[in-house]
Order: sequence, then C-alpha cells, then structure tokens
Amino acid sequence: MARAVVERGGRRIELTHLLWFRRAIRGRWIQWLVAIFMLAGFVLAILAGLFGTPVGSRNFGVIFVWIVWWAALIALLVPVTGRLWCSVCPLPLPGEWLQRRALIRVRPGRRLHTLGLKWPRTLRNIWLQNGVFLGVALFSAVILTHPRVTALVMGGYALAAILLSLLFERRVFCRFVCPVGGFIGLYSMVAPLELRVKNPAVCRAHKTKDCCTGNENGYGCPWMLYPGKLERNTYCGLCGECVRTCPLDNVAINLRTPGADLAPRVGERRLDEAYKGLIMLTSALLYSAVFLGPWAGVKEAAYNVFTLPWLGYAIGFLVANLLVVPGLLLGAVALGRRLGRTGDQPLRQSFVEYAYALVPLGLAAWVAFSLSFVLINLSYAWPLLSDPFGWGWDLFGTATMPWTPYFSGLVPTLQVAVLLAGLVVAVNVVFKIGSTHAARVRAALPVAGFCSLVTGGFLWLYLG
Ligand code: SF4
Ligand code: SF4
Repeated sequence: MARAVVERGGRRIELTHLLWFRRAIRGRWIQWLVAIFMLAGFVLAILAGLFGTPVGSRNFGVIFVWIVWWAALIALLVPVTGRLWCSVCPLPLPGEWLQRRALIRVRPGRRLHTLGLKWPRTLRNIWLQNGVFLGVALFSAVILTHPRVTALVMGGYALAAILLSLLFERRVFCRFVCPVGGFIGLYSMVAPLELRVKNPAVCRAHKTKDCCTGNENGYGCPWMLYPGKLERNTYCGLCGECVRTCPLDNVAINLRTPGADLAPRVGERRLDEAYKGLIMLTSALLYSAVFLGPWAGVKEAAYNVFTLPWLGYAIGFLVANLLVVPGLLLGAVALGRRLGRTGDQPLRQSFVEYAYALVPLGLAAWVAFSLSFVLINLSYAWPLLSDPFGWGWDLFGTATMPWTPYFSGLVPTLQVAVLLAGLVVAVNVVFKIGSTHAARVRAALPVAGFCSLVTGGFLWLYLG
C-alpha cells in the first residue's frame, strides 16, 4: 500500500512505497521504451516537415507537434504530472547517449564523454530560456502553420541539445536553454506529483552522495541537482536516476496537495522565474488577441515576418511582455504596500513573491487558449497516422477519415471553468503571500484585482 504522511505544505502519499511502482522506476526499460517511441515520432515529425506536403493540416509535423503533443503537454501532462514529460522527451536523448556511450546500460565508474565545460555562472538561471521563448514566439504564427519551419525549429533544438551535451556537463540544454523546459518547470509547481527525499537528515549524514556522483545502479543527477535540498519541482526532470542510485532508499515520488510549491517560503523566489510567469501569461493573452481577436491587421502582421508591420508587431509583443504587464503588476504591488502599510521588505522582493501567483493563472490561460483550437482540429490527426507526409498513403485505413470538430459547443464553457479555476487558485495564492505581511487583505487586494482584470481580458476575448 502507498504510505501517507503529513509534511510542510500538506499531506503526501508516497508512490514509491508501492513495490510495482518502485520496480517500474528503478528498471530503465519502461522509461526507455516510451522515450524511443517519442524519438521515433519526433524524427517522423521532422521528416514530414521537410519532405511532406506544405499544407499544415495535412502534415504530421504540424498536427502532431502543435495539436496532439501540445494539447497532451499543456492540458494534461504538466498540470497532472509536472515535469514527467522531461523524463521521456526525445530532444536530449541523442546527446545523452553520446555522453554516456551507452543506450540504456549503466557503465559505473566511466566518465561522461564531453569536454565537461562548466556552464557560465551568469547563465545559471532561466533568463536564456525566457529569451529563447520570446524569440521563437515572435515567429510562432509561421512556425505553427508551415511544416518546413516547424521541422527546422525542432531540428534546431535537437542539434543545440547534441552540441551542448558534447561541450558541457550533463543536461545543460534542458536545465538552462530549452524554452519548453522553462515553462514546464514553472508550471510543474502546480502539479500534484513531486520527487523529494524522505528524510533530509539522512542525506546530510550520507558521505558518498551517490545521487550526485552516480553508481552501478544509475547516473549522477543529469540536471545537476542535489536531491537532498529539493523543495520544489521546478528543475527536477523526474528522470528517476536518484531513485535508482540512492543506496539508502531515501528518495520518494509522492502525490501531494496540488500547488504545494506555491505556498509562501517554499523554496527560493527569483526574478527570472517571476518574469517567466509574466511572459507566459502575457504571451497567452497576446496569442489569444492575435489569433482569436477581431483585429485582422494584427494577425496579418504576425504572419508576414520580416515586413514593417511585423516589426511593429514584434516590438509591441516584446514591450507588452517585458515592460507593460510587469509594470502593471509592479504598480499593483506598490499600491498594495501603500494600502496595507507593509514596507517591511524591498519592493522588488514583493514583486517577485506576488508574481508566483500568476503561475496557476498562466497555466489556466494556456489551457483555455489551447482548448480554442485543439478540440476543433484534433480530428486532423487520424488521417495523418496513415499518411504522415500527405503523399496519398493509407497505411492503417484512416486516411479518408473526415475532419470532425469535437465538443465545439462545449469549448466556451470549458474555457470559462478553467479560467475561473485558475483565478480562484491565483487569488488564494495572493492572499497567502499577503498573509506573510501584517495587513494582509488590504496589501493583497490590488494584485488580486490585477489577476481578475487579466482573467476578464481572457473571458472577453473568448466570449466577446
Ligand atoms: S544518495 Fe540518497 S541519502 Fe545520499 S544524499 Fe543522495 S538522496 Fe540523500
Ligand atoms: S533530482 Fe533525481 S529525478 Fe530529479 S533530475 Fe535529479 S536525478 Fe533526476
């Protein structure tokens, strides 16, 4: 039976207490087979993008990457399992195999085949991931609809992951560069799944720290973490290596209260992560406005990259992400400090703390935005199973299945429900953060108002 314990941040149920679960994690095969399956899909998506039909809705690359994978990731995997996707992601696989000179077997005592360079100290944060995300976002109208561009972006990520794994230690691509990893890490704080050590005191007393160095059962943490100090999900890729290597059986995978990492004073609070929360929320808002809003001119500008209108769109996109929305939040935080007379900590610190309330709101916004196109377009996937390149094949007899929008009448209701749920959780986090100050309600009200205003903006775009 799974073991339930009550700890800081709420009740936990230890899944690794289940023998079958522990065996499944410690054995490498299940994870490896799923990762290989994903790698095959990834290679097929790139090949279809490069050599298949240029019609997006008839190309495996566009539909399976931006509809099927994206929907599964943002609406299911991240909210429910946090970073579990990272444990089977195909992007770092080839680089990791080259580093280890092994596909699956552990080779104890053998050093990784890499130049072993240290990642620069100034880049040991997620600012680079924020920058890469914004850079890609400027071109997303084209990336999402043109198979060849999708293939080039995916191929570019894969090459960068391989190159970095040959130069640097372990998974620096995943930890510091991958723009997808950046937001998965942030939103994984909401998930009801976590990996933590059972007893930090056992780790402190353990001299050899096999989870960092590796042993005959597994590799040292590829994400360069010390599990003994893990307090939140953000950077743990759930690869399971520490579950395998810990000789004292001190690592657990738990079910827990969703959003436990967002409680005040759980782990550190950082400006780069605060900006990630702001960028993700703003991008969801801007995407909704551009692709679903009534402004045809803006949409046209987003599609016509490297033209003058696109330059205006790009500048507006960056200014909104980096200045306008952060400025509005800063104003709300400053007003709250005035109302509540809570000048007990620097404004920057309050800004960073309150920005974490945007994590559930941003996740809800992305789920709602995704609902607007996923259910309508999902049925494009079935013919592509038989004809991934759009060349007229019919491998499994599904090539002529017609386009059928699913539950389209339900989409607005689901969007409202998701957005309101995100708002309720966000406001709850805001007041919890406010409760760490003296005059909690008054201090937190403006930020709660900011969250409500943003939610109102989404509702207007989806229902208006
Ligand atoms: S090997 Fe296990 S007990 Fe030792 S530091 Fe790592 S997680 Fe803690
Ligand atoms: S802490 Fe453990 S599960 Fe998380 S990335 Fe490191 S080795 Fe993998």
